[in-house]
Amino acid sequence: MDKLCPACNGLDVIKDQCPICGEQLLDGGSLQNYVGPYSPYMESDIENQCIHILYCAECGYDARIALQLIYI
Ligand SMILES: [Zn+2]
Ligand SMILES: [Zn+2]
Repeated sequence: MDKLCPACNGLDVIKDQCPICGEQLLDGGSLQNYVGPYSPYMESDIENQCIHILYCAECGYDARIALQLIYI
């Protein structure tokens, strides 16, 4: 068994709305791509999660969401 993030692997699309302007938020990808594998974000308590950055192209709002990894 292996685990993967559905959003990183194109199995799922994150759909969320900007709380500021109501535009569709865009998936900026996994936080791992930004901070590297040895950051505090990669502590064991979130090892079954993939943190994604969502951002709004309209107003610049951004947020982080934790996605549950799925087992394949
Ligand atoms: Zn991911
Ligand atoms: Zn916005």
